[in-house]
Amino acid sequence: MTLAAVIAEIEKLYFDIDLDAVAAWKARTHQKAIGTLPVYVPREIVTAAEMLPVGLMGAGAQIEIIRGDAYFQSYICQLPRSTIELALTKRLAVLDGFLFPSTCDVIRNLSGMWQLLFPDTFVRYLDLPQASGAVAARYHRRDLEKLARELGDLSGHPVTNASLASAIARHNKNRAVLDRIYELRAKAPWTFPTREVYLLLRAANLLDVDDHTRLVERYIAAATRENRPVRDHTRVVVVGAFCEQPPLELIQTLEAAGCYIVDDDWVLGPRWLQGPVAPGADALQALANAYLAQSVASPLKFEPGIRKGDALVETVRARRAEGVIFCAPSFCDPALLEQPMLEAALARAGIPSTAFKYAENLGQFQVIREQAGTFSDSIRLWGAA
Ligand code: SF4
Repeated sequence: MTLAAVIAEIEKLYFDIDLDAVAAWKARTHQKAIGTLPVYVPREIVTAAEMLPVGLMGAGAQIEIIRGDAYFQSYICQLPRSTIELALTKRLAVLDGFLFPSTCDVIRNLSGMWQLLFPDTFVRYLDLPQASGAVAARYHRRDLEKLARELGDLSGHPVTNASLASAIARHNKNRAVLDRIYELRAKAPWTFPTREVYLLLRAANLLDVDDHTRLVERYIAAATRENRPVRDHTRVVVVGAFCEQPPLELIQTLEAAGCYIVDDDWVLGPRWLQGPVAPGADALQALANAYLAQSVASPLKFEPGIRKGDALVETVRARRAEGVIFCAPSFCDPALLEQPMLEAALARAGIPSTAFKYAENLGQFQVIREQAGTFSDSIRLWGAA
């Protein structure tokens, strides 16, 4: 498969807000599909119930928000508005149920609205534990067991230990290939531009996990064959965009402004668990333990005994980044409340940073281009912003 063909496929998926790819998968497999809100849900359980987990991340600038605004006050982020708009315009009608994780108050409230608006649809709120230890592990396993039972009832395919172990193995392969593309991009960001890596990640929202793993492998093979020029860009880590997504043009703008993005936290769901999960004799417990012990550092999960910002500093060093760009959605409490602690950690470590906010339907990028360009230039010229 040529690189152009892979890019054409992932671009098509990115713009597929009507979920045609999901409808085609359902027609092919005669199975159901479950929408999952950001950021983390145990997609392995959906897969084990022989359903397709479909990541929902708003609509970007692809639709006009008409009714969605009426449901929310003005001072919250954009994602719930466009998600409601997608639902009210029947673009999510192909989905047979929805999982809402406890990402933040906005998503919790959205799950309540969903139950009022769509009373006949399967809706499940997933209260992920914030504590660690044996009690949290028992609590989370019990909740996952209930979820597995409910999803099995919905699909008609009960989740067994064997089916879950098999699903975990399939998602482990996907995690491994995503890790690989991140490693490769950090080594040679000119060969694996972030625009393409990002589109590949977004494709994980719509594709069956094995299809997505193969697509990433095909992309790696095709991109490796290209001889793309090395540019004098500044290596940066981008953080804050783990839920509502930046417009694609914003990502392109950062690259055009002279930044090689060597790590980021967008489309974090499929990359939430760090490293493979060993299913063992009790695959549900293994998933619960993995959430407690293998979650990526993020504002969404309290980690006792770990100083905020240490993980970010470690990432900057591991990726040999020269600076950090805080790029968070406007009104995103989890990202924006954590940002000062992260900035302080970077300042202690002598790592330069800059910050701006966006909305998924932002249409003007000139100011961001100038800010990112100045940041990148100042690092290259003087070694610090
Ligand atoms: S963008 Fe932030 S505030 Fe909005 S739903 Fe996501 S995590 Fe919550």
